[in-house]
Amino acid sequence: MVQTAPLPITTKTALPLASAPTAVAARAVAITRTYGTTSNIVRAVDGISLDLSARRFTAIMGPSGSGKSTLLYCLAGLEQVSSGQIWIGDVELSRLKERQLTRLRRDHIGFIFQAYNLVPTLTAEENIRLPLDIAHHHVQPGWFDTVVETLELRPRLHHLPAELSGGQQQRVAAARALISRPDIIFADEPSGNLDSKAGKELLSFMQRSVRELGQTIVMVTHDPVIASYADRVVFLSDGKLVSELSAPTRERLVERMIELES
Ligand code: ADP
Ligand code: MG
Repeated sequence: MVQTAPLPITTKTALPLASAPTAVAARAVAITRTYGTTSNIVRAVDGISLDLSARRFTAIMGPSGSGKSTLLYCLAGLEQVSSGQIWIGDVELSRLKERQLTRLRRDHIGFIFQAYNLVPTLTAEENIRLPLDIAHHHVQPGWFDTVVETLELRPRLHHLPAELSGGQQQRVAAARALISRPDIIFADEPSGNLDSKAGKELLSFMQRSVRELGQTIVMVTHDPVIASYADRVVFLSDGKLVSELSAPTRERLVERMIELES
């Protein structure tokens, strides 16, 4: 595990997520997120309480517009809740000043976005190492190579993002999130733009990093095949949590999605 700088927030600084198998890595307590004005209000997230266990791979599923991305961004401290609380480890986000929130995201959270958010002027390798450089962390020996080999990025390390295919850019973004072994990784449709072989490799790598290395991952997807890699799947509909499955198979996920949409 990469040693991260302690958070200067409370007396309990370190986030002891990796030590206890039943620890809660992130928690939402009665959160809502609304958009628009009172006359034309959208309840993107409408009263969700959710515990996300450490060392688990959780998927958030639901139809388009059901609030998946909004929930994920609220959990990750990238979007403010309208009411309710978000906890990352033992830190409640609304109590943080902007700088503390930025530091918490930098030191403890990884992201894989739908749009890859790579820096266009940096090579693939520089993009992957960027979070470590910013936080002055060192990568664990061998881990950079493991990530790069598994995601088949070795021949592309010296290329700029514009010289990479969409799938390769997505894998660079995934490598960047995994490289610092953050306490929790949030991913929004992480293989949404991958062909199925690269997508499967990325997902099985994410699954192994949870099972074998104790990584915590929370992933949004609308695809039952992708969600079947998770340990637990929670379902959203109209901004509410409506259902969940443990150890899901593709078939049960398809069934449940059909039930929810009918
Ligand atoms: P999903 O990821 O499940 O497709 P989203 O979280 O993106 O759903 O959106 C949930 C609802 O909130 C949708 O009705 C969407 O139009 C609305 N919404 C999301 N972001 C915004 C925004 N920035 N401004 C206004 N409405 C938004
Ligand atoms: Mg979305």
